[in-house]
Amino acid sequence: MLTTEKEVLTVNHFINGQYRQSATKKTFEVHDPSNQRLIAIVSEASEEDVTEAANSARQAFEHSEWRTMPLAERCAKIRRMADIIVERKEEIARLEAMDVGKPYQHAVGSDIPRAAHNLRFYADFVEKQGDEAYPMDENFINYTRYEPVGVAGLITPWNAPFMLTTWKLGPCLAAGNTAVIKPAELTPLSVSLLGEIAQQAGIPDGVVNVIHGSGKTVGTWVTEQPEIDLISFTGSTVTGKQIIKNGADTLKKTSFELGGKAANIIFEDADLSKAVPTSIQAAFLNSGQVCLAGSRILVQRTILDEFLEKFKAAAEALVVGDPQDPKTTTGPLVSKVQYDKVNYYIELAKEEGAKLITGDQPLQLSDDLAKGYYIAPTIFLHHDPNARTCQEEIFGPVVTILPFDTEEEALAIANNTDYGLNGVIWTENLKRAHRVSYAVRAGTIWVNCWFVRDLRVPFGGFKKSGVGREGGRHSMEFFTEAKNICISLN
Ligand code: NAD
Repeated sequence: MLTTEKEVLTVNHFINGQYRQSATKKTFEVHDPSNQRLIAIVSEASEEDVTEAANSARQAFEHSEWRTMPLAERCAKIRRMADIIVERKEEIARLEAMDVGKPYQHAVGSDIPRAAHNLRFYADFVEKQGDEAYPMDENFINYTRYEPVGVAGLITPWNAPFMLTTWKLGPCLAAGNTAVIKPAELTPLSVSLLGEIAQQAGIPDGVVNVIHGSGKTVGTWVTEQPEIDLISFTGSTVTGKQIIKNGADTLKKTSFELGGKAANIIFEDADLSKAVPTSIQAAFLNSGQVCLAGSRILVQRTILDEFLEKFKAAAEALVVGDPQDPKTTTGPLVSKVQYDKVNYYIELAKEEGAKLITGDQPLQLSDDLAKGYYIAPTIFLHHDPNARTCQEEIFGPVVTILPFDTEEEALAIANNTDYGLNGVIWTENLKRAHRVSYAVRAGTIWVNCWFVRDLRVPFGGFKKSGVGREGGRHSMEFFTEAKNICISLN
């Protein structure tokens, strides 16, 4: 359980239905990125703690009633988790705002309701699925069952900790698996609550375990743990590669949602009254710390001046400030490391010869927030699609605008990246919308919109943006093993 002591939270692991410290009593600190205040002391797992969490999940998988209970009963418990999240949404959103620096309004209005929806969606989804039958003339009948795989390691990043963890936990539990969750060490607070929420919902002890600690140690131990059968990971491409290597000896089944560098293509016939505000969201939501961010904005040269003027004005109208203040649209970066990384890319863009359109104006912050990791929404007009700032994932409130003349040129720039998570297209021309959607090599294309999510659709990346797909039946396939049963009718 999270306990407060002089406003500093104590966060422990949740193993086999109990919050507990690490065997070594080792801890690490978590700070509020808006002011650097110490907000939590968190238990740092040892390898022994990881083994205990994995064993607890294994025991619950093999010996509790979780995977064999009637589906309706299991799904009712998952829906109860969703209800508890909705009941506690203000508290969870406050933690998320304090931990991530995400504006509270966004957390309470979007991330936390979506987290509840993630769980409810998969409970509803599995209940509606039927199994398959393949009769062979009059002689044999096959039928196929989808059974849980076993113990799942769920490793999640810091930019949307609660929402992204439930996005994995929903299908994991609905399929009848048990879980060892490893949230990002920068933002462990909200995810830590999932242990007690599962328990309050009547989910057997050991089914949901949460352990904390650094990716390099605890994340690696989770990946190497022989009792963990599969890893569902969301995070950076570099870590994804490491997980494949470290999971090889235990032959882990893996699903990866990785980084992105989406092209947001604005053709001259775009409706700018929609394209500008939505592109602002795509660029600066969560201070640009969004895998789906439209961070490369490709603008047809005939409308470049008009777009730049409107986009700059809208960026400068964003309210950078205290994440807990309802007026704030843009909070700090999550950490000093991220702050330094984004500032490095700002300097790099200048060295590359990009023109700064906005981003250098001083921020009006109180004394308390002056210690926060704030960076103003920053726009560069760039001339070189091959430059590092146009190729590498910055993951901050920094976008590059790249002009183009023809559709062919736009497509060449859009596909000139190692990533392929998503793309955005703005045009009123239906034929062009389809043509360009087909040609952009990415897992999700939004036409005249961005971040519209239907949880049934496949979600994932081409190229270095991922391996596999989440969403609807795609998540269920990952979290299940197909078993065919063939019966003689003679
Ligand atoms: P990260 O890869 O550094 O960390 C993600 C998680 O992996 C954390 O829990 C971390 O502790 C753990 N980890 C780190 N090293 C590990 C290792 N060697 N073995 C096992 N686990 C390890 O990523 P981040 O900086 O937390 O998150 C930002 C990245 O996540 C960005 O690249 C972003 O695009 C990506 N992301 C992708 C999606 C998507 O759906 N595709 C969504 C959100 C974020």
